[in-house]
Amino acid sequence: MKLSDKVINRLTLYHNILIGYIEKGVSYISSPKIAALLDIDASQVRKDLKLLNNDGICKVGYPVEELKKSIEKFMGFVKTKEAFIVGAGNLGMALAKYDNFELYGFTIKALFDNDPLKVGVSINNKQVFHISNLDDMAKHSNVQIAILTVPRQAAQKIADFLVNAGIKYIWNFSPCVIEVPPAIRVWNENLIGNFLQFTINHEQ
Ligand code: NAD
Repeated sequence: MKLSDKVINRLTLYHNILIGYIEKGVSYISSPKIAALLDIDASQVRKDLKLLNNDGICKVGYPVEELKKSIEKFMGFVKTKEAFIVGAGNLGMALAKYDNFELYGFTIKALFDNDPLKVGVSINNKQVFHISNLDDMAKHSNVQIAILTVPRQAAQKIADFLVNAGIKYIWNFSPCVIEVPPAIRVWNENLIGNFLQFTINHEQ
């Protein structure tokens, strides 16, 4: 089944909420509660959760543990997705330190940079390699995802290099709209654009 980007995004948010409820020892959660936390309609939550064949129990809600597991199964969190970070600067290092990606089966295998001072450094048990090693490491591994955290000026050149190395998905944080062949999928991360859209659309 093909899921829309918005459904996937909401399911990860529901998953975050469920983890918090499990930590608090709460066993059930209702669709209105999830909806209120995310400022969306309860009917939308019910529709999304129906995709997982979860109906909830009338006046009780959804069992939190079970729902968390079914979201994980449905979205393939249990299947590992391995990624390289390219650009071991402020952002690349911060992402490498963030262990919560592992909750989604998303594992950072290594970082790459062209700065000799960064090569050889280890961050959160992940090593920084020289960018010239990426091609070989990609071809001898299952890694198909690259997280691009280089400066804008380097982004297109590195994207071309990633495509040649066999990378299929690029999570692009650089403020450069990169051009890639049609078979390669690029997600352009745009934190400020997303936040501005939210603030402008909710101005009182
Ligand atoms: P940074 O300068 O700290 O890090 C960039 C790293 O890339 C450096 O370690 C540098 O050595 C490396 N690099 C440069 N050219 C390279 C090349 N040809 N090959 C390999 N490595 C190379 O920058 P930062 O603060 O970590 O930001 C990284 C990128 O993320 C920038 O493009 C920035 O604009 C962007 N950014 C995006 C968002 C967003 O919302 N999408 C938010 C913050 C930052």
